[in-house]
Amino acid sequence: MTTSPTPSITDPSPTTSEELGAFDEVSDAVSAAQSAFETYLDCTLAQRRLFIAAIRAEATREENLRHMAVEAVAETRMGNAEHKVLKNRYAATLTPGVEDLLVEAYQSDAGMTTMEYAPYGVIGAITPTTNPTETIISNSIGMLAAGNAVVFSPHPRARHLSVWLVDRLNRALVAAGAPLNLITIIRKPSMEATAQLMATPQVQMLVATGGPQIVGMVLSSGKKAIGAGSGNPPVVVDETADIPRAARDIVNGASFDNNLPCTAEKEVVAVSSVVRELVADMVQEGAQLVNDPEILEKLRKLLMSPDRQHPRPSWVGQDAGTILRAVGVEPRPDTRLIITETTPDDPLVQVEMLMPVLPIVAVEDAAAAIDLAIEVEHGHHHTAIMHSRDVTRLETMARRSRTTIFVKNGPSYSGIGIEGEGFATFTIAGPTGEGLTSARSFARRRRCVLNASV
Ligand code: NAD
Repeated sequence: MTTSPTPSITDPSPTTSEELGAFDEVSDAVSAAQSAFETYLDCTLAQRRLFIAAIRAEATREENLRHMAVEAVAETRMGNAEHKVLKNRYAATLTPGVEDLLVEAYQSDAGMTTMEYAPYGVIGAITPTTNPTETIISNSIGMLAAGNAVVFSPHPRARHLSVWLVDRLNRALVAAGAPLNLITIIRKPSMEATAQLMATPQVQMLVATGGPQIVGMVLSSGKKAIGAGSGNPPVVVDETADIPRAARDIVNGASFDNNLPCTAEKEVVAVSSVVRELVADMVQEGAQLVNDPEILEKLRKLLMSPDRQHPRPSWVGQDAGTILRAVGVEPRPDTRLIITETTPDDPLVQVEMLMPVLPIVAVEDAAAAIDLAIEVEHGHHHTAIMHSRDVTRLETMARRSRTTIFVKNGPSYSGIGIEGEGFATFTIAGPTGEGLTSARSFARRRRCVLNASV
């Protein structure tokens, strides 16, 4: 492995009073990232590895993990700090780095051709409120591993923490010898600033992690775009499933970070013969059953927009106890999830709620369960979960749902590497098809042809 001298840093003596990488003007952020990218182009792969290691080390310092978790809850006013520690730790440790860029080679008497990965340049990345720091950590690792620089446009409700994180990562990168401003951020994000970022010619690629509006915007930008959009993950439980285990996994998955992950179980479709046992086991695991129609209606009124097409933002990511108290129900001390037995047309089933309220729909058999689950996923091709011991049914649902993530017999979060096999990402690109993004998603393919000398 060869190493070349460390390229000079754009600003070798940054003052400690200002946040590194944060800019008021979009144009300044892009110019700084472009200049960092040009220096980064001359760095070796060994240096890239060193820089990725610096990001991982900084993000996993215990005080930083705690700060990100506590501040994310304080600033966004949603989620669960203990779970956010886990999410950030997985983002930092399990997002693939340079090793993700596996080169394909073809060889014959004519010579050798390799299919390599080249950077795009400056990437504009838009991050969500639900995983603010996780997305910045995971995107930064993948994008820098592929040789790019990045300008983040954070969610306005997570901007202070996002700016703090970009500052920490820049300091760690600079200390490791990286050019300053490989990671930049817009200090005061707005719709206009995001639109300006998308339109800036130096921005070569756009990556949006968020709801349908922002994904639609990047897809119509005319640039190479990755869209990681919303889902409504169904979980199917059939009569062959290990019901106590299914109950535990569903309660764990659906209550994780108060149901903020786009991958979290959003509705259960269960074969009617197992519903009673499943509900009883879920209650044992910390779910509270609410079947009173009046209370349910109060819940819908409280938690949903008047047209029942969207959750009310102020209730997204709140904990189950707070939600129950708001409709006059005393939560049990161990309650972490609200469950209700309902019908498929209930808006709580149809709408991505992003809160620990999990409707359960009973159907006649496994075939009907798979059909309904696919219907309520609404063609997002995002995530689905199934608890069954019948391999044929598992295969059928995986094939027919065509989701990016399909979890068999486990909690939803095992699909992004948390307590499950495989790498982590917080940008799951269903609409544009990259799937679980990693460094290679943020690189263009380059064909290098070496002709034989004779
Ligand atoms: P959101 O769409 O409200 O915001 C996402 C980002 O887009 C934010 O930075 C926001 O400021 C920006 N944005 C939104 N509309 C915009 C506009 N018109 N102009 C400019 N910028 C705009 O989403 P959110 O509430 O932060 O996150 C929750 C949503 O994101 C859920 O639907 C969830 O499923 C989805 N999500 C998907 C993934 C994935 O990997 N597929 C990951 C996390 C969240």
